[in-house]
Amino acid sequence: MEKPAIQYIRPKFCLVYIMVFLPSTTPATSAVDAGLKRSRVDYSRHLSSEARARLPNPIKSIWKAAQVKAGTINMGNGDPHHTLYPICEMNFVVPSIDGHDPVQSWRSGTGEQNIIASYKDDPCALSLRTAFAYGAGAGLKEVRDALANLNDRIHSPPNHTVSLSLGNADALTKCFRLLGDPGDSFLCEEFTFSAMTNAALPLGIQWVPIRMDNNGLVPSDLERILSNWDEATQGKRPHVLYTIPCSQNPTGSTLSLERRQQIYRIAHDWDIIILEDDPYFFLQYDLDVNQSTIQQYGYTRAMAEVLPRSFLSMDYDGRVMRLDSFSKIVAPGMRLGWVTSNSFFAEKLDMLTDSSSQHPHGMGQAFVAELLGSDGWGVDGFMKWISSLCNEYQRRRDLFMDIFRQKVAVSGFATAEVPQSGMFVWIKINLEHHARFSTSQTPTVPGGPTTNTADLMDELFRKLLNSGLVMMPASTFAVVDRAGTMGSHINDRVNFFRATFVGTDETIRDGLTIFGRTLEEFSCC
Ligand code: PLP
Repeated sequence: MEKPAIQYIRPKFCLVYIMVFLPSTTPATSAVDAGLKRSRVDYSRHLSSEARARLPNPIKSIWKAAQVKAGTINMGNGDPHHTLYPICEMNFVVPSIDGHDPVQSWRSGTGEQNIIASYKDDPCALSLRTAFAYGAGAGLKEVRDALANLNDRIHSPPNHTVSLSLGNADALTKCFRLLGDPGDSFLCEEFTFSAMTNAALPLGIQWVPIRMDNNGLVPSDLERILSNWDEATQGKRPHVLYTIPCSQNPTGSTLSLERRQQIYRIAHDWDIIILEDDPYFFLQYDLDVNQSTIQQYGYTRAMAEVLPRSFLSMDYDGRVMRLDSFSKIVAPGMRLGWVTSNSFFAEKLDMLTDSSSQHPHGMGQAFVAELLGSDGWGVDGFMKWISSLCNEYQRRRDLFMDIFRQKVAVSGFATAEVPQSGMFVWIKINLEHHARFSTSQTPTVPGGPTTNTADLMDELFRKLLNSGLVMMPASTFAVVDRAGTMGSHINDRVNFFRATFVGTDETIRDGLTIFGRTLEEFSCC
């Protein structure tokens, strides 16, 4: 199968490619010149019919025009007047980040607290007059600017736009609607966050699983799927890759830089849009943060040096939609996140938001603006908190792994890799030791399971539940290969549980004790 022609535009007297979005009928003008970065491709071909048919919310368009000239009297909108808001001030009590290890001080109650405040009538980072009024779907400028600043300092993405979301679940479902038509096939890791992939199914999107190993998605398998794709029998070739590069949910794996580069290159060659769902990005362990960089340039630069390189940071031609969330680094109930993408996709996404959920809530936007503002932690203080948070989660991970070795691995019935980021441990149950393990099942469908792995895992799951422990069975996250092209059926590979190490020391200890005991009972009969 031939790779798709990618349309690039090169200005006459300039050595740098510029951002141009062409209608899909425009003929290709030049081949890819790998030496010239910052190219831009025609992305309109990736839009779903829904996104193409969507008109801007006309009221929002006039509202945006009214923002341009200061002092414009707005008699057009049904906005309650701010003098009638029953609120004039919000105080947020947050930990001080002055101490050496702010997360430990906060947990132990020994640290100072700070109050950061938002006002309706007094100066602050984001006035409550603005925060509580109707706004643009993309979110308020003060918050978007703060997050664009954070993005710039961590990822340095060329020519990207930030829009707010209600967290990554909201952002992802909107991206699926933006890019997917009924009958489309999207690529994803073979074990993935099914809460999200399931959300795409009613849109008529089919998932094509890519093989994984201990280090996550295998780039050569991605390439294999794309180059063997036969549109006559399989339908339109996939044009979207949904991936979770850090602490992949559920497997906990983190993609190496080499794999990321390979995957980006493949996406570039096959004109694939990458949905980079990265809520665990900031939770990295065993980081060698340079203390003199902290002293000289602050935490943001020091952390940027050691955090993994995102797909966004490599995205010279604008094919990455990166999804960040406050859920794992502040609190899930924040329901706030941000999408970073090329301005063409950002505009289409904002149109969808303007006509559906509208902008995120004012309280959360006010909180973020103050927290990241000069009277709050600031971006650098935020990164200091993140660095301290990493230390605490690393401690919990280490405790989990220590107890796992003592209570579980010692029997030989289960093993696990040490995760380098996030919240998950992917525990492999060594079912081949089980007396009732069978490799001679007759598949009922072509390429179906040849072992009784799924049945044994189901039995173990129920035993654990009866013993008072829940772990997530791999089958919950398995993506079925409808075309049967993976060789071995996924049900033969579901001998894993996803466990998290984010609980208390007590729950980690008690949970793994139950796990070790129940697994031994199960394995010995
Ligand atoms: N994507 C992944 C991989 C997740 O693990 C989660 C939450 O667990 C989400 C998205 C949803 O995140 P949010 O709370 O930002 O909607």
